[in-house]
Amino acid sequence: LLGTYGTEFGVPVYVVGGFVRDLLLGVENLDIDLVVEGNGNEFGKYVADQLKIKYLSHEAFGTCSLFFKDGFKLDIATARTEYYEEPAKLPKVEISTIKKDLYRRDFSINAMAIKLNPEKFGLLLDFFGCKKDLDNGIIRALYSLSFVEDPTRILRAIRFEQRFNFKIDENTLDYMERTIENNYLEKVTGTRLREEIEKIIKEKSPINGIKRLGKLKIISHLFPYTYYTPTLENEIIKMFAFYDLLNKENKKYIENTNKFYILLYVILQYTSIDVLEFIRVKYGLPKNFVEKLVDVKNVFNKINKEDIKFSEIYELTKKFNNEQIIFLASKISDKMREHFYKYLKKLSNIKLPLNGKDLKKMGYVRNEIGIKLDELTKIELDK
Ligand code: ATP
Repeated sequence: LLGTYGTEFGVPVYVVGGFVRDLLLGVENLDIDLVVEGNGNEFGKYVADQLKIKYLSHEAFGTCSLFFKDGFKLDIATARTEYYEEPAKLPKVEISTIKKDLYRRDFSINAMAIKLNPEKFGLLLDFFGCKKDLDNGIIRALYSLSFVEDPTRILRAIRFEQRFNFKIDENTLDYMERTIENNYLEKVTGTRLREEIEKIIKEKSPINGIKRLGKLKIISHLFPYTYYTPTLENEIIKMFAFYDLLNKENKKYIENTNKFYILLYVILQYTSIDVLEFIRVKYGLPKNFVEKLVDVKNVFNKINKEDIKFSEIYELTKKFNNEQIIFLASKISDKMREHFYKYLKKLSNIKLPLNGKDLKKMGYVRNEIGIKLDELTKIELDK
């Protein structure tokens, strides 16, 4: 239908990028990006008028979105070439052809298009040996300066490599390593880096992506004076395992948690306070991020005793949020972690004989109520 509208409107219309890649791989992808050779915004408006659906234009980017009645969203862009006036900065955009549009993309596997106009419906545009790379499981950058122009592609290469179990082409890996060594990641804003790191940890096996970040020394370039060691790797493995356990068995401890914060607690625990403050600001982390990290570090040694009572764990951790709880779990012995898990389970199911209201009726005032509830909780926990 969109191709028919394209022909009516007089523009070639293509579906591009991740959708084409996943279609050829037989993987579901509901994220459809269209590119139009011509004015994408005017074409979008035309389609929206025909279908009587909502249309939103992002004038500055030459893109627009269509919102179908069933909740489906479609993004339409104008074929463009991008110029990088400075490495690692956002590009300047100019109207162009589909071939140039595809050439500016990150990797060959993401640089194919399928034509939608009825005359050539289904025609695969593959200008750079993309299909061959996809069939061979190769992640290949389209040109040698690709990573210098946009160093976030380094993180994207790792994400796709891990997701599809593909191999990064030898030259591409070489360009990547040189870009990393030459400190180009340091030129990218924290917001853009954070987005890509968050995407890596949303993948099915985030630990594999993190291991790769460690091996390629990317961790030290993302977080200054921070080093990826076998000890750290082990702690990250434990953290993800505990996160998955809670996600499966006790979702209450996962609700509203930010996995990125937990990962950063683990990675940054050995980094000095002044550097931490720089990292906090760079990545837009909350004001109390460093304080929360230090609070957990302060209980590491106190909690790692096998005969510790549940009431003592409660006393040490009652102020912790779920992110801190999961971070703490990565720091304790395997046996202690089992004990800690049982403690969390008991705490989440606890039923106190009296609640705050009852205590108020009994004449307790605000502060005292909290203290009394803590006392009752500890008694129940040790029963
Ligand atoms: P996912 O399945 O994770 O969404 P995707 O390939 O669809 O993967 P998006 O981030 O949605 O990823 O990007 C859509 C398309 O835009 C990509 O397939 C690629 O062609 C292009 N693209 C995205 N980011 C970049 C980038 N940093 N540099 C060049 N091209 C990019």
